[in-house]
Amino acid sequence: MSFFPVTRPRRLRRTAMLREQIAEVKLNITDLMYPIFVVHGQSIKREINGMPNQYHWSIDRLPELIKAIKEAGILSVMLFGIPKTKDKYATENYDSNGIVQQAIRNIKMLHPELIVATDVCLCAYTNDGHCGIVHNDEVDNDQTLDILQKTVVCHAQAGADIVAPSGMMDGMIQAMRYALDQNDFNQVAIMSYAVKYASAFYGPFRSACDCALKGDRKSYQMDFRNKKEALKEAKMDEEEGADFLMVKPALSYLDIIQDVSSSTTLPIAAYHVSGEYAMVKAAFEKGWLDERAVTLEALTAIKRAGAKVILTYSALDVSKWL
Ligand SMILES: [Zn+2]
Repeated sequence: MSFFPVTRPRRLRRTAMLREQIAEVKLNITDLMYPIFVVHGQSIKREINGMPNQYHWSIDRLPELIKAIKEAGILSVMLFGIPKTKDKYATENYDSNGIVQQAIRNIKMLHPELIVATDVCLCAYTNDGHCGIVHNDEVDNDQTLDILQKTVVCHAQAGADIVAPSGMMDGMIQAMRYALDQNDFNQVAIMSYAVKYASAFYGPFRSACDCALKGDRKSYQMDFRNKKEALKEAKMDEEEGADFLMVKPALSYLDIIQDVSSSTTLPIAAYHVSGEYAMVKAAFEKGWLDERAVTLEALTAIKRAGAKVILTYSALDVSKWL
């Protein structure tokens, strides 16, 4: 008994202060990026189905939200737009008076230092809900690149700091980098949704984006059975000029976050998606889970896996909890 054990890990877990002192990973509000959904219209703050406490915001209601974001100490937001009309070529995407462009200008007036990132995709803007132009019943990769180029230049003109293509088209980063540089926007960064899986965890988001999709996105988003492909996608996007690499979703893909993060020197973003958020909210409403504890544990795990930036609908709540 006297010889055993010399090493006792419990010594360093004995008090809260000891535990705090040696914690390897600490979640900070500055790790988080907050997604915002903007819509046309007046005085709209409408709760999104399946995403309690998340809203569609009209431009005139943004000051209330941006004030809360500023007070929370959140550094960045990701904008998603719901257009007035959907069409074959996603035209509102590259309309200087589109909803995202209006929101960028408005936010930059309210809070100039806030990092404004924009989701760049076609799915909310096309009448078939696909992330690219449909041609002969297929999503046409190269025709889509053309629209993405016009869109990022238009977002940059409105004042975006970061553009974030989420459509998983081949060559999208190179095409966007070229278009931005040709138009004197070499300081606008690209956050690539480099490793985006075809996931059932996006469920509530589809209603948030009022998406018209029938069918699925498996011909361009990744198969969740694959891991090597994640490294390939990440490497390609890095070579094409991405400034950040994103993995989406986050919680069921911690191994992917870890592997991608050890394969690059670029900062990794991870998207804690709507389904992950909704599950915790639903369990909390039933009294089955402690929302605060579960959310902080999940976000810390995402950071521990290697994410530098975490996109999460819980960002405003987290600012109150930390
Ligand atoms: Zn899309």
